[in-house]
Amino acid sequence: MSRNNSVGSDGFVSHRRAAAAGFTPGGLDPRGMSLDEFTKHLDVGLRKQHEQSAAWDFEGLVAFLDGVAKANPHQHITGSVGNPELLRLALQIYQEDPASREAFLEYATTSDLMRPEIARHFFQLSINAMVHWLQTHIPLSSTPGDFSQADDRLNLVRLAFQSGHTGTNELLEEAYRCVALENQLHGVAEVWFRTTLGDHDAESFERATRSAIRGASRAEADGGSPLNVRFVVGMRKMWQYTASATQTGMPVDAQALGLVTMLGRLRDGDAQTAGMILGVDSVGTDTGWRPEWQAPARTMAASQGMHVAMHFGEAWRPGELPATLLRLETLVRTGDIRQLDNSNAIFAIRDTTNPVQAYSDDEWNEIGVLQVSVFGLLIGRGIGLGINPTSNDWLTRSLRQREGWRLRHHNQPVTPGDASVI
Ligand SMILES: [Zn+2]
Repeated sequence: MSRNNSVGSDGFVSHRRAAAAGFTPGGLDPRGMSLDEFTKHLDVGLRKQHEQSAAWDFEGLVAFLDGVAKANPHQHITGSVGNPELLRLALQIYQEDPASREAFLEYATTSDLMRPEIARHFFQLSINAMVHWLQTHIPLSSTPGDFSQADDRLNLVRLAFQSGHTGTNELLEEAYRCVALENQLHGVAEVWFRTTLGDHDAESFERATRSAIRGASRAEADGGSPLNVRFVVGMRKMWQYTASATQTGMPVDAQALGLVTMLGRLRDGDAQTAGMILGVDSVGTDTGWRPEWQAPARTMAASQGMHVAMHFGEAWRPGELPATLLRLETLVRTGDIRQLDNSNAIFAIRDTTNPVQAYSDDEWNEIGVLQVSVFGLLIGRGIGLGINPTSNDWLTRSLRQREGWRLRHHNQPVTPGDASVI
């Protein structure tokens, strides 16, 4: 398998076209350059441009990045689970696994999606009727602002993915195969799955992970163009709506340490599996979560050479932006992380055009100080910052309206002299 034209776990990067003016490291061939070198040269180019001009050549930067092979370092399979074939496989699991079925019905009824009298007979319906019910109740093509609700609704299928039942193997293999192929069709040379495989209990984790890897490998082998697939396995921040009773109530630290141990064991096995398991991530809501939690697991993963990514500060309860930034600062200061994703909290700036203002002048000052501090720590520690502009926009739309802020433009510096947001 070719490793050319990819930003990969092996740390090499190359690009096809000559870089745009301002971003070209003079006389250097970026092919075969390590990821660290690439980042450094990009940063130097951006700083030079920042010094020379008050207005940024943002288009030049985009043109430069266009020359780099397409990599997708942030792929969740959840957006693709509305496929009827996958829904059929999920329903089969509910039919055969009482624990998952109960969790599904409990979620559906407590979320007011299904009346209790329907729930009692739901699994006596025809398979097509059940698939249809799922398709109507998972609003995949949601409008902006309903993003978190849409994500919550995916519990209707997520519970099947989390099941320890053997039918889950087929579901996982098919799901990861489909999404890997979708990436390949879009010309992606490398995809990193932000996966919830870590939701599986010790008994089913290895089987489930091998199924997902098998599905992705089949896509790598069957597809027309070279594709590298990597897995970044999520440690669940809080346990809600899990199919496995053993997971409920287990301290998140112990759960996360167990996950890292299992990943280490898998990486000690065959070389192909080892190459595909890139590291760990975090998944789930931030509400009520403390950055100190799972710190031992993040440290252990880093010490084993795993990539440690985090989702944090995506959304918060109204009024909690300063508190979220405080926790983020703790996380970045004390955590062993290499990459921070979807951290909308550091891009929030006051929108004076909004009549609703959740924060006072003093609070906005505090927010600004914390953002500068976090950004400085990210730069100082070389922690990559991942943004997903469309989903971040959707995810925060209703929160922005309720709190009176907007997302900082990505070419607008957070601190004077720190040109790079990439
Ligand atoms: Zn994500």
